[in-house]
Amino acid sequence: MDRRELFGFLSSSVKGEERNTQETIIRPPYYNDMSDFDKECRNCDGKCATLCQEQIIIISEDKTPRLTFSKSGCTYCDDCAIACKPNVLQVQNKRVIDAGIRINESTCMSWCGVMCFSCKDPCLENAIDFQAMFMPTINQEKCTSCGFCISRCPSLAIDTLALI
Ligand code: SF4
Ligand code: SF4
Ligand code: SF4
Repeated sequence: MDRRELFGFLSSSVKGEERNTQETIIRPPYYNDMSDFDKECRNCDGKCATLCQEQIIIISEDKTPRLTFSKSGCTYCDDCAIACKPNVLQVQNKRVIDAGIRINESTCMSWCGVMCFSCKDPCLENAIDFQAMFMPTINQEKCTSCGFCISRCPSLAIDTLALI
């Protein structure tokens, strides 16, 4: 996804579009070459997933790791990279997770007039801005795409989109 597509995704919440149902594949934030997943992970026992304390790495059917934010988020702890012996993931390649995060106005309770701060509290970056205690939006300058806010939303109003 290029920057124009990303902007379209992020700004579409303003237009109140439907929840994003597109399947997204979000990789752990330590890879260098995307093709390494296909080359190396097939023959690996998936220690990255085993050692992720947040349990957000799942090994897909193709045996490559992907992130899920359905229960928790990424602390950027480096454990998955340290565990990866084939060096698909390496600490030196640490980066912001390749995912856009947005709040869907049509399903967000706060945008519908009900006071709710469920997403604000878990955000350690203070990256969710409220206008007069309502209408939350993600501050893209601050958001690290950690995903911690996603599972805390009672109305499943926070979407992700992989940027790769
Ligand atoms: S950095 Fe830590 S929390 Fe994030 S995916 Fe890797 S092991 Fe899990
Ligand atoms: S530990 Fe490394 S090689 Fe193994 S599945 Fe995870 S990313 Fe792939
Ligand atoms: S994904 Fe962004 S907005 Fe959500 S908790 Fe993480 S930093 Fe905050």
